[in-house]
Amino acid sequence: MAECVKVCTQNFGKGAQDIEVYKKLGGYSNISERLFNMSQFELIDYVQRSNLRGRGGAGFPTGMKWSFVPRGTGKPVYIVVNADEGEGGTFKDHFLMLEDPHRLIEGLIIAAWALGSRAAYIYCRGEFLPCIEALNKALNQAYAAGYLGENICGTKFSFDIFVHRGAGAYICGEETALINSLEGQKGQPRLKPPFPAVCGAWKSPTCVNNVETIMSLPWILSHDPSDYAKMGTPRAGGTKVFCISGDVKNPGVYEAPLGTPMMTMINDYAGGVVGGKLKAVLPGGSSCAPLTAEEAAVATMDYECLASMKTMFGSGAMIVINDTHNMVDLLNCLGNFYSHESCGQCTPCREGTGLLHRILNQMVAGNGHDGDVELMQSLSSGFGGVTICPLSISLGGPVSSYTAKFRADFDEYIAKNPEHAKPRIQETSR
Ligand code: NAD
Ligand code: SF4
Repeated sequence: MAECVKVCTQNFGKGAQDIEVYKKLGGYSNISERLFNMSQFELIDYVQRSNLRGRGGAGFPTGMKWSFVPRGTGKPVYIVVNADEGEGGTFKDHFLMLEDPHRLIEGLIIAAWALGSRAAYIYCRGEFLPCIEALNKALNQAYAAGYLGENICGTKFSFDIFVHRGAGAYICGEETALINSLEGQKGQPRLKPPFPAVCGAWKSPTCVNNVETIMSLPWILSHDPSDYAKMGTPRAGGTKVFCISGDVKNPGVYEAPLGTPMMTMINDYAGGVVGGKLKAVLPGGSSCAPLTAEEAAVATMDYECLASMKTMFGSGAMIVINDTHNMVDLLNCLGNFYSHESCGQCTPCREGTGLLHRILNQMVAGNGHDGDVELMQSLSSGFGGVTICPLSISLGGPVSSYTAKFRADFDEYIAKNPEHAKPRIQETSR
């Protein structure tokens, strides 16, 4: 396996939590030597040319998002780092913040200069206590060294960063629910548009970016943008920090170029499948459609290839499943999770995810019925476009794809009920 350039994980294991070590490794040199000689326009153009796309899951072009932020409105511009990381199978941001918190701070200073922002909030999952400690320690060091606060590095530019601890609700990783939570309101999504870039925290322009997106900026700025762009695919530049979990020998966090073959990630990086033969891979976290072993053999880990296979790249969280598992068990876990995390604002999500979970739960308990699969498919087909946020389709999508690709697993469970041919008694209440 060829050693790839490391963008976000290059300081892993080197003690970069300490500012002196981070600086010896080249950290903060962008701020002291380069950043303030660039105009906001030049910097946004630089990031656009790098082809960096958001690393939280949606893959929205970062420079383009920044260009939407209105200037001269008289309102402050906020930056919010989405460090809530709740998607099943995703754990990269946790490690990035733990291992290299100064890279996040340096990336935020770069973003703040580009956006003309005076303040940023890092909204961190409440359970990530060691990350919060590492961030606060790094922030204190950065303030003491003059990289944060009033008149950074002797310039007229002032910038503050605050760490905000979430309380563990998955829905607060959705950017508008996160903003509500940051403001002290109920963590429930808002309708979009308006997008936060135009009207976000405290009704001001707010750029919400993922941890890994911001942590890519120091490397991009200290190279030519084309160096980053050419590491990825024609439509998305750079490397990606993948999380590989499930039935592999070495689960963990691995950085590799976008476009790396899926089986290279599984075999060469994660040590191969264990406990049985490969049955399925979820390429981008728990809410995406699984690929079969045949599909995985030809898939590459990038936005375009996975979209063409009717799944998604998402956060690059690969969950590997061997053939000892029945996919209904996995779907039942997802049903439990997403129905529990529904915020309850939209009826199709509040009622529909709960109903799907109850059917799955009964199937796994040996009480499945003929027609259950069709009932679940019909229910989940009603989620698209009628709910405020994508949580409903995070369960509805998998129900459609699991039942289409692994129908035999559902039939196996249903056959365990001696009375499976009798009609299901319809339930209407939770
Ligand atoms: P989205 O496509 O609605 O938006 C992506 C980003 O682009 C947002 O910041 C949005 O504000 C911005 N944007 C889109 N169109 C815009 C426009 N016209 N003007 C200004 N800004 C615009 O996606 P989303 O709902 O924010 O995210 C969904 C993704 O999040 C899914 O892929 C899912 O896998 C992922 N996800 C990740 C985690 C995690 O733990 N990393 C958790 C849950 C979901
Ligand atoms: Fe809440 Fe679900 Fe509606 Fe999203 S889709 S706003 S989680 S009820």
